[in-house]
Amino acid sequence: MEFAQITHPAPVPGETRAQAIADPGFGNVFTDHMVTIDYHADRGWHDARIGPREPLVLDPACAVLHYAQEIFEGLKAYRHPDGSFALFRPHVNAARMNASADRLAMPHIPEDLFVEACRQIVLKDRDWFPTVDGGSLYLRPFMFASEAFLGVRPAREYKFLVIASPVGNYFKSGVPAVSIWVSRDFVRAAPGGTGAAKTGGNYAASLVPQAEAIAKGHDQVVFLDAVERKWIEELGGMNLFFAFADGTVVTPPLTGTILPGVTRNSLIQLLRDEGLTIREERYSIDQWRRDAESGHLLETMACGTAAVVTPVGKVEGPEGSFTIGSGGPGQLTGKLRERLVAIQRGQAPDPHGWVM
Ligand code: PMP
Repeated sequence: MEFAQITHPAPVPGETRAQAIADPGFGNVFTDHMVTIDYHADRGWHDARIGPREPLVLDPACAVLHYAQEIFEGLKAYRHPDGSFALFRPHVNAARMNASADRLAMPHIPEDLFVEACRQIVLKDRDWFPTVDGGSLYLRPFMFASEAFLGVRPAREYKFLVIASPVGNYFKSGVPAVSIWVSRDFVRAAPGGTGAAKTGGNYAASLVPQAEAIAKGHDQVVFLDAVERKWIEELGGMNLFFAFADGTVVTPPLTGTILPGVTRNSLIQLLRDEGLTIREERYSIDQWRRDAESGHLLETMACGTAAVVTPVGKVEGPEGSFTIGSGGPGQLTGKLRERLVAIQRGQAPDPHGWVM
């Protein structure tokens, strides 16, 4: 599909942009452009275009505003040492978006169209790459039901958009270990629910427990399973890995209640490359505390596109607080982070063909 190029009447002046990309934070600043593609049940995807980033005009009966038919993705573009730009496994994000679409009764977007939309915005907004160390251009593809209709059924019209935001480090403190609050009163997802889909409602439901974590003095919330309230699932926006003294690593399995992270999948591969045994199996909150206290558990890492690989230092669970290892960044966490970042940034060979 050809992308119509709509000229920008008033892009942000160079000087203002230079200031914005010198210290972008996370998700505060947006680039000049956006991609839009329309969908109608009778026509399929049509009218792909890239033009000025601007407010949307929506009918107040627009389905997404009432029944939350919305899905999104998050991936980063990196500037390589040779000055080129790279996306990291964008087809995996495209496939995940279509898996989310299946759960929310939304249409698939062809994977190549998704990736081309990402490519277009990176090319158009290449002057927006942050100048800070560790910076990247965060891409937010999303799709929502745009039909004006108040019956409860899948909408017949959708919009797919991609916006972009220059980002620095996700955690203000950089890489130091994060502190985690185990949510007791709230769960994120139940079997048969939407936990494996990247849909806005999951994040709306995580805001109160996340606020509770912050109020208790922690950085992030970890969710337990909805049935037995004992199995560790994931953080509000990151998957977890547990590394043990015997050289094995455990990560919770993809049973439909957690998001299948692209970083999770990449780390499993990198751990196998290291010759480590990685098991996708359930791990309980009680065992987590026992293993941390006995020293059998060396490290816990949280991973996701935004924060890459981040050590978990402290946990406050229902039975009290415990510390993982020394409470600071562990060896494996640091090594994996370095390896992944080096591949993403074109500073190391890319043995699995992840970089585009
Ligand atoms: N879990 C949740 C709930 C998330 O929102 C994210 C971020 N997309 C992740 C895990 C990590 O996924 P990824 O590695 O694809 O960013």
